[in-house]
Amino acid sequence: MDKIENKDVCKNCGGRCCKKSGCDYVPHDFNSLNINDLYNKLEEGNISIVSAVIIDKIKDKTMATPFLYLRARNMNREIVDLLSMKTTCSMLRSDGCSYSYEERPTGGINFVPVEGGKDCYPRENPEKLIMEWERYQKPLSRLVKRFTGMSVEAKFREDVEQLFYDVLAENYDGVAEVEIADVKSMILQLVLAYPDEYNNALKRYKASRKLLVK
Ligand code: SF4
Ligand code: SF4
Repeated sequence: MDKIENKDVCKNCGGRCCKKSGCDYVPHDFNSLNINDLYNKLEEGNISIVSAVIIDKIKDKTMATPFLYLRARNMNREIVDLLSMKTTCSMLRSDGCSYSYEERPTGGINFVPVEGGKDCYPRENPEKLIMEWERYQKPLSRLVKRFTGMSVEAKFREDVEQLFYDVLAENYDGVAEVEIADVKSMILQLVLAYPDEYNNALKRYKASRKLLVK
């Protein structure tokens, strides 16, 4: 991608985009996609395995499927962070991104700065960029297993339940308003896809309220 950077505009804005979430990597951001090399890179602690949630309706049944990719790690989030409310990127410093322009994930350099920070726009469709991870779903699944001991399905279910709980309990610390709005816009579809996890989260939430009242 041609270099488009405007440090003054981003400095004045204060990193609005980076406060919503870390930016997305694409496969060619990495020198090696060998599974052991990726494992070591993830172990450094600055990147998470995350997922884009694909919602489908099959014969009146709502299904939610995680599509795995890598993203700059968010504050207080794990190496495997399949679904959670996004928080500020852990690489953001008071003077901007800790990475040089050349080291920055493609999702970051894809964003064109516009004064004020509200009208910045992507040069390439971010969803299309994420789809470049399609042929790496198996190795990424194996990495999820290595880091968590869980299958992607089991880890995703766990994360879905925790997300329901966090929304019910309004655990919004460090979460940008625009992210809260994004999560709320998809929560109903997730409840339809994962009713048991929603009921578990609701039970946990009610139990926590009782403990607070006592
Ligand atoms: S790209 Fe836009 S939103 Fe991000 S820091 Fe720069 S001006 Fe702000
Ligand atoms: S890696 Fe840099 S550009 Fe990307 S979100 Fe984090 S601080 Fe912003």
